[in-house]
Amino acid sequence: VNRTGASPEGTTGRRRGEIEFFVVDLDAWAAAWPDDSDVAAIDRSEANRLRRPEQARRLLARRSVVRSLLAERLGTEPAGLVVSRLCPTCGATDHGKPFVSGAPVSFSVASSGGVAAFALSESAVGVDLEVEDPKLTPQRRAMAERELRGLAALPVGRRGTGFLRLWTAKEAVLKAAGRTLADDPSTVDVAELLWSRSAVVALGHRRWHVRHLAIDDRSEGTVLLAVADDLRRPVSMRSAWSVGGARVSSTTFPGVPST
Ligand SMILES: [Zn+2]
Repeated sequence: VNRTGASPEGTTGRRRGEIEFFVVDLDAWAAAWPDDSDVAAIDRSEANRLRRPEQARRLLARRSVVRSLLAERLGTEPAGLVVSRLCPTCGATDHGKPFVSGAPVSFSVASSGGVAAFALSESAVGVDLEVEDPKLTPQRRAMAERELRGLAALPVGRRGTGFLRLWTAKEAVLKAAGRTLADDPSTVDVAELLWSRSAVVALGHRRWHVRHLAIDDRSEGTVLLAVADDLRRPVSMRSAWSVGGARVSSTTFPGVPST
């Protein structure tokens, strides 16, 4: 990615089959982003419909990061990249899981406030992220029986975080599987994640491996992340993405089991 002098450190050292995982501060990205001409018209009109300028800026930053990462991985220019969408439920092309037609890469994006996570893989991958909120009330409807029992067994003060661990994992699995309106989060049972860093769950005739990760050093609070894939591939973290010499992502990363 030469356009802005941005360079994800070490991406050339990627091992085959690895899931690449990035965490980016969207406001820092937007601030260090001198040329936004590579963002597609569809992204621009989506941003224009958002009421708050901050939301529009972050949406465009998110789309810009996706294009930069994909272009870097595919060895092409961000401006020439065509990112399509297809809704598996209604067939519309203005929403649904994004993809690059004909390219050997699958990707998933999640964001909460100013922080975004990006996962790229050769095979299906899903990522979800939420900023911890100690006052959060668990949504019982989204939970499986076993998960509800697990949450009830936690001290009251830890139930909000427990719920978010489960919620992010469910979302990651649903996204990896190419979720549709027919998917009900309560059918994805990841209760193990209340006491373990990873779980295996069946959905859509496939078995998904979902990992739980946490990033602690954000001003917004602890960021909870989940990554799901169908191959149990190692996750490789690239935390040092720099734009014009400025460090954009700032992360600490606990050990990830590469089962
Ligand atoms: Zn649709």
